[in-house]
Amino acid sequence: MKALFSLVFSLVSLATFAQEKPLDSLVNEYASQEGLITTYWHPEKSKLLLAVNDSLLGKPLLMVTRYVSLPANYSAYRNAGSKTAESVISFEREANKIVLKQLSYVNLAEEGDPIAQSVVQNNLAPILSVFEKMNSEKQIALFDATDFFSKDSPGFNAVGETEKKNFKIGSIDSKRSFINEVRSFPLNTEITHTLTYPIAAAPRSNRSETFSFKLNHSIIALPEHPMPTRKVDHRVGWFSLEQYNYSSEALKSDNYRIATRWRLEPKDKEAYARGVLSEPIKPIVFYIDPATPLKWRPYFKKGIEDWNRPFEKAGFKNAIIAKDPPTKEEDPEFSPEDVRYSVVRYVASTTRNATGPSVKDPRTGEIIESDVIWYHNHLRSYRNRYLLETGAANEKARSLNTPEEEIGEMMRRVIAHEVGHALGLPHNMKASSAYPVDSLRSASFTQKWELPPPLWIMRATITSLSPATRGSVLCAKWGPMTTTPSNGGTVTSRRSKMNKNG
Ligand SMILES: [Zn+2]
Repeated sequence: MKALFSLVFSLVSLATFAQEKPLDSLVNEYASQEGLITTYWHPEKSKLLLAVNDSLLGKPLLMVTRYVSLPANYSAYRNAGSKTAESVISFEREANKIVLKQLSYVNLAEEGDPIAQSVVQNNLAPILSVFEKMNSEKQIALFDATDFFSKDSPGFNAVGETEKKNFKIGSIDSKRSFINEVRSFPLNTEITHTLTYPIAAAPRSNRSETFSFKLNHSIIALPEHPMPTRKVDHRVGWFSLEQYNYSSEALKSDNYRIATRWRLEPKDKEAYARGVLSEPIKPIVFYIDPATPLKWRPYFKKGIEDWNRPFEKAGFKNAIIAKDPPTKEEDPEFSPEDVRYSVVRYVASTTRNATGPSVKDPRTGEIIESDVIWYHNHLRSYRNRYLLETGAANEKARSLNTPEEEIGEMMRRVIAHEVGHALGLPHNMKASSAYPVDSLRSASFTQKWELPPPLWIMRATITSLSPATRGSVLCAKWGPMTTTPSNGGTVTSRRSKMNKNG
C-alpha cells in the first residue's frame, strides 16, 4: 500500500513538475516549425508535440483528411487524394487541458439574439481528444499529440464502414503505425501518418493479410472574414449546404440552403460595376497532378481554363488558371494533399470515371479548395463512346486507332465537366433536352450553338447522329446552359443581368 501511495505521489509530482517547466526545456531535442500550429517533431522517437497560442483557442480550423497512398484493390472510388473526412475543429482550454472539439454550423442564430444561447446549449460540440498541457507558460500550451495521430482517431474516418465489413478489417496495429512527416506554414499545418490494420478477408493478391494507409491531415484556418452567403435559387442548380436559423420571425426556425461557390471578387470594383471585365482579387488556380502523362496535360489545362468563357459573362477575366505542377525550386511547399492547392489528380486505377469534389467553409459555403479526380482507365470509356456514338457520321471513329487529339478533346470536356462540379454546379439533365433532335443533326445549328455542354449532360459526344449528318459538331462544348448559372455564383454578381438571362 505504501509503495502504491509513493508511486501515485511521485506521478503527481512529475506531472506538477512538468507543468512548471518552460516550453524550451521540453522541446530541445525536437525539430520545430512555427506556423498556424507550432510543431515539435522527434523523428527517431516518432513523437509529435504541438503548441497552440491563446490567440488560436476557439478559432474555427478546417481539417481535411486525405489518402496519400492506399492498398491496391481497396475500393473503386477510394484513391490517392480521396478525402476521408472534412470537419471544422477548434482547440479550447479547460484548466490545464487542451480540448479538441468538432464544430457544426447547421443550427444558427444571430449574434446577440437570446436564442443563440439555446442553440449553443442544444448543439454541444463532440470532443475529439483531450491533451494535457505540459509547459509552464500561460499564453501558450504545449501538448503531446503523438497518440492522436498514430491511430484512426475520431474524425479521421480512415477506414469506411463498408470496407471494414468487406475485408474484415481488424483493430489498428500500433507497432506498424507511425507518424511520417510534419510540416507547418503560416496558414496551415500538415501531418502525415501511416496506419496499418490486419485483415481477415484480404482481396486477391494480398498475401500479407494487411492493409496500410498513408493519410495526410491538412489543418487550415478558416477565413478571418467569412464570405457573404447566398441562398440557393432553385431555378438554377447549385450544390448547397443546409442551415437552420433560429432568429427567424417565421414562428419556426428558417430552413434554407446556401450555395457553395468560390470567393470571386473583382479587383477593380468600379470598372466591374460599369460592365468592364475585371480580374478577380484571387483567381481560382488548379494544378495538374505531377502524375499526369505529358501528352494529356494540354487538354487538361484547356478543360480547366475553358471556364473563363462563362466567367467572362459574369464579368471576370482570368478567373481560373491551370498550372503545371511546380518543381521543387519553384514551390518547395507544393503537395497535392495540402488544402492550399487545388489539383486535378491523375489516378492509376481501373475505375472508369472522374469526379469533382470540393472543400467548403461550412459557415458560408465558400469553396476553399478542390481536387478533381481523373481515373486512368476512363480513357477507354471515351474511346468506346467515340466509336459507338459517332461512328455513323465520323469516318475517324471507325477504327481502333482513335486520333490522340480526338481523345484529348473528349478528356478536355470531361475535365471541364468535373471542374464545373468543383465550381459548385451539379448535373442538370434538363440541358440534355435543351435542343430538339433535328437541331442536333444540323451542322449549321451545332456550329453556331454548340452541343449541350458536358457540364450539364453526362457525355462528351452525341448519340443522335445519323450517317446523313455531315459537318456537325461531334464533341460536346458549351452552349447557353453553361454560361448563365455561373453568373449567379460569383460573390459580386451582376444580379440584374443574371435575372434577365435566367
Ligand atoms: Zn458529373
